[in-house]
Amino acid sequence: MPISTESDAAVDNGVYLDWNATAPMRPAAIEAMMAAAERWANPASVHAPGRAASGTLETARETIADVIGVDPRQIIFTGGGTEAATLAMRGVARDRHIVSAVEHAAVRDAVRDREILPVDDDGIVRLGALEAMLTGAPAIVGVMHANNETGVIQPLSDARELIRRAGGLLFADAVQTAGKLDLPEADFVGISAHKLGGPPGVGALIAFDEQNLRAIQPGGGQEGGLRGGTQNLPGIAGFAAAAAALDRDWMPAARTRQRRLEERLIAAGGAIYGAGATRLPNTTLVGMPGVPATTQLMAFDLDGIAVSAGAACSSGKVEASHVLLAMGVDEIAAGEAIRVSTGWSTTDRDVERFASSWETLRRRRRAA
Ligand code: PLP
Repeated sequence: MPISTESDAAVDNGVYLDWNATAPMRPAAIEAMMAAAERWANPASVHAPGRAASGTLETARETIADVIGVDPRQIIFTGGGTEAATLAMRGVARDRHIVSAVEHAAVRDAVRDREILPVDDDGIVRLGALEAMLTGAPAIVGVMHANNETGVIQPLSDARELIRRAGGLLFADAVQTAGKLDLPEADFVGISAHKLGGPPGVGALIAFDEQNLRAIQPGGGQEGGLRGGTQNLPGIAGFAAAAAALDRDWMPAARTRQRRLEERLIAAGGAIYGAGATRLPNTTLVGMPGVPATTQLMAFDLDGIAVSAGAACSSGKVEASHVLLAMGVDEIAAGEAIRVSTGWSTTDRDVERFASSWETLRRRRRAA
């Protein structure tokens, strides 16, 4: 069956408050992808079209490097944030792997023999515990810049100092912060295009310590021999165009909306997770006591509002959020949390619609 594109332009995502899952693609990214696709060639080919493709690839690398403030040679393009994490966690020459208890599955499941770094009630890594864990053989440590469920920002400079002193290396998953915050201090940083207005399936590992990295997918030796496989040029061109279009002008308004929203939800009986920590201004994880996340998701969906459960849903079974469990939240409450995440085109009205819908559902469920 042919894939229909006819009706795609008319797709209306309603009130879209699931930006941490994926952000809408910037028009400039779509245009750049189309242009790169029309001038197709393999960037490794030596003929003229190949050289032109290589030029597009290197211009994209320079654009992204410029936006995030790194040397273009430090950028290794990957097939997304997950692959960037896998490359760092498996490709770094260290025998031990430590990951924080609140990591995304991309980092948590990148290696099997991992040691878990605990977090406090707000989801912040316990630096004392980290220091104690680092006394053994040098490790590669995975700690995210900000959490995708709670928005909680980790004290990465302090963590890095401890790790460096112990001869270890830090991988920071910056998938949720790239474009919103400056790049964290780390030896390796992972980013993903589709969280910042580019296409899915493209990302990068920023390797500040390349000599400690070896390819886990050597293939044809692309990306300086660190990631084999023909580069996804249209995707990378879209990634670069999205990066060039980034701004942070929307963030103060997002912070104001977050504060107002959370005040309303708390007044109506909601529990805000990570409230005691510094968080991203676009993320709120809220629990509705007594109402499973799946029930809430369905109710919001009927209201035309797209949000996510803090819980993972696999084969029809809802699992309580590992992030909340690590923060000491009990299993029932951990299965009642909904994540609201906003972005540059979110309006006051969008957030207002969610707040009203949440309050109505809460009232209805209490009356039942
Ligand atoms: N890390 C975090 C914190 C994420 O939120 C995500 C995506 O949800 C990923 C990694 C994975 O990125 P990608 O979808 O590009 O593989």
